[in-house]
Amino acid sequence: MKKTLTSLAISLGLATLGTIALSAPAVSATLVHAGKAFTGTSDKLKSEVTIVIEGNKIASVESGYKTPSKSDTVIDLKDATVMPGLMDMHVHLSSQHGGPQTYLERFSLNEADYALKAANYAEITLDAGFTTVRNLGDGYHETVSLRNAISKGYATGPRIFTVGKSIATTGGHADPSNGLSHLLRPDVGPKQGVVNGEVEAREAVRSRYQDGADLIKITATGGVLSVAKSGQNPQFMTDELEAIVQTAKDYGMTVAVHAHGKEGMKRAIVAGVDSIEHGTYMDDEVRDLMKQKGTYYVPTILAGKFVADKAKIDGYFPELVRPKAAAIGPLIQNTFEKAHKAGVKIAFGTDSGVSAHGDNAQEFSLMVEAGMSEADAILSATVNSAALLGVSDTLGTLEAGKFADLVAVVGNPLEDITLLESVYFVMKDGKIYKQ
Ligand SMILES: [Zn+2]
Repeated sequence: MKKTLTSLAISLGLATLGTIALSAPAVSATLVHAGKAFTGTSDKLKSEVTIVIEGNKIASVESGYKTPSKSDTVIDLKDATVMPGLMDMHVHLSSQHGGPQTYLERFSLNEADYALKAANYAEITLDAGFTTVRNLGDGYHETVSLRNAISKGYATGPRIFTVGKSIATTGGHADPSNGLSHLLRPDVGPKQGVVNGEVEAREAVRSRYQDGADLIKITATGGVLSVAKSGQNPQFMTDELEAIVQTAKDYGMTVAVHAHGKEGMKRAIVAGVDSIEHGTYMDDEVRDLMKQKGTYYVPTILAGKFVADKAKIDGYFPELVRPKAAAIGPLIQNTFEKAHKAGVKIAFGTDSGVSAHGDNAQEFSLMVEAGMSEADAILSATVNSAALLGVSDTLGTLEAGKFADLVAVVGNPLEDITLLESVYFVMKDGKIYKQ
């Protein structure tokens, strides 16, 4: 009896579907005719392919230039190389370092000022071909609002995965009260991203979950641009790190870790974090640990070069910051070279906001200069970044079923990686932003 009912249901279902299929109009598609395509499914280019887009998704990727039906739209990119939208795993959309006056902004700007700056820089970032970013720290969770505004369509920018305000310990890198007189120093706690002890560490993670953050960022060691003496001392204890990682896991969030010094990096990797940002002083032991634990490295070579250059200018940085910038900045490219050679997993990241937003793609040539192949550099900003974000099922390659995020450059980026600095076509979610 049961079997009969099931087969009846199936035949009814098929009959109904059949009727709908016969009467429904043909789906209108967008056909992208790509002279060359780097789909992210191999390290080679394919020639003459058609990427069929229906709605906001890729329906298929086919060999040859497919003939459009009457209702189809054709985008002619026969002179270009089409790639998946680029992904930057380390940006700060709310700000951009502009010399000494940057340090005064916190006395004059409010939440809304930062939100509007972020909206502007988001647009610039998308225009440069970056269709997805991880925002690794803002002041007031304003990039949570920006992410929502972009996904609702009343602001323009990349897909944003944001940490909101990052988490530090008292006096640590990203404690917003650093460098202020007692009179001006605000009372900051877990909500503002300052924690001491495991209880507060858990509270800070839960508070970010409540405020809509996608993932967690902590500053496990000192940093270059904060008004504090050390750029590399460990700033979290093991129990605090474990509390953060375990709580984040409970809420389905990953943990990104700012770290320059070895000890802080080691503690964080052992605690089970997902990515190390900058990673300046990593050595063989740290590289082995990362490989063993599957931890990603997000290098930010561009930020290192930027601060090293600016440290040469008198008065550009406060005197407490200048020696840190001069010492740490130039080392990152070499750290990257060693990590790549050792086989540590690399995801692309620039720390844009230190360098100018929109210059993100300059990181590619710094990676290639340090020994990475052009194809691997592009894969780090597509396939690997999607994997780090946990969104490989929807982003990172040109394949059927993925979101239609694609960019194009004229020429062959596997021969000249600097071509990525002048992306001339950008589509995100099936919508064209630049052509
Ligand atoms: Zn950063």
